[in-house]
Amino acid sequence: MPEKQERENRRGNRRIIKKKACAFCVDKVEDIDYKDVAKLRRFLSERAKILPRRATGTCAQHQRKLTTALKRARHLALLPFSND
Ligand SMILES: [Zn+2]
Repeated sequence: MPEKQERENRRGNRRIIKKKACAFCVDKVEDIDYKDVAKLRRFLSERAKILPRRATGTCAQHQRKLTTALKRARHLALLPFSND
């Protein structure tokens, strides 16, 4: 939709934010360990919700693996489903 694009471009002057490196890429992690609760917790909000990529800087590939790992951890009761 070109119209929408134009509107977004007009906002312009977007500050260039330095892209955060993916924590898993930095550590060269290929498969995220669902038992590593300490690490996984960093990707959960205080309400135990999975943080979005833009909040953690995780790359798409690792975010997907992370989601799987987190869900597995939850299923095994290593992590809570919610923290209300
Ligand atoms: Zn990554």
